[in-house]
Amino acid sequence: MPGHLARPRPCIGVRRPVPSGPMRVALSIAGSDPSGGAGLQADLQVFRHFGLHGAGVVSALTVQDSGRVHQVLPVFPSVVLDQIRVLLRDVTPHAVKIGALASDDVVRSVLLGLADLPADVPLVIDPVLRASDGSFLLERRAWPALCSMFSRATLVTPNLEEARDLCERDPFSPAGAEEAARTLVLDMGASAVLLKGGHREGRPDDLLAIREGAGETPGVELRWLEGTRVEGGPVHGTGCALASAIAAGLALGHDLANAVDQGRRFVAEAIRNAEAAGAGARFLVYR
Ligand code: PLP
Repeated sequence: MPGHLARPRPCIGVRRPVPSGPMRVALSIAGSDPSGGAGLQADLQVFRHFGLHGAGVVSALTVQDSGRVHQVLPVFPSVVLDQIRVLLRDVTPHAVKIGALASDDVVRSVLLGLADLPADVPLVIDPVLRASDGSFLLERRAWPALCSMFSRATLVTPNLEEARDLCERDPFSPAGAEEAARTLVLDMGASAVLLKGGHREGRPDDLLAIREGAGETPGVELRWLEGTRVEGGPVHGTGCALASAIAAGLALGHDLANAVDQGRRFVAEAIRNAEAAGAGARFLVYR
């Protein structure tokens, strides 16, 4: 061993965590955020918080800090597909979360890769279009391909701007939100939608829409979930953390309503505890 490297210390007295059962795995397919506040890095931290093994397929590289996104570079689509195929041949995750996909070709590769995912594995899609600073995290021409993925989703988690852009409805009023959620379920085929109300003026209530019934005349059950605004300025990566916390709940076997409830409480608490590490938005803190 070279002299400048410390010799590993013996582990005497260090208690290793004992796994309480077979390992459960959650997979995130998302962009890399070097700041660790959002994207794949954040998703893996959330999975770990819930005691899951986090697997990660990188869809895009970003150059960003806590203030803004400087560059977005999609990973070669064939390499995205290979990452998914090789992983799924070896490991079947208990849930999958999809985040920023950057380009139309990457979305199409992920669609192809998902064909290898068993139908009963829950899939949460966070349809990330832009970062909070307005930078595009998915090119405009990829939006239809992203929407075609919704029919495989257990849950889609758009914010109000994403719902407006993807289903061409104005979801900022309560009636508009209900109409947009119905469109995402009935016309675009999502099993459920969590329309996040954080960008609404006033109380940031979310709307959970769940498809009921099958066959010719499916319906939609709508549940408004009361939100509380936590003051204190911008926080980075809340959407990523919510979608991955819900995916974690599903991976642990919770039903959708409980996974959503647990995810929302988890993120609200992480926002209350958020801390600044850089000069821009604060980072979530999970306790
Ligand atoms: N960077 C990546 C790679 C992301 O996936 C996301 C969120 O989805 C963001 C940045 C955006 O984070 P924020 O909306 O907090 O700017």
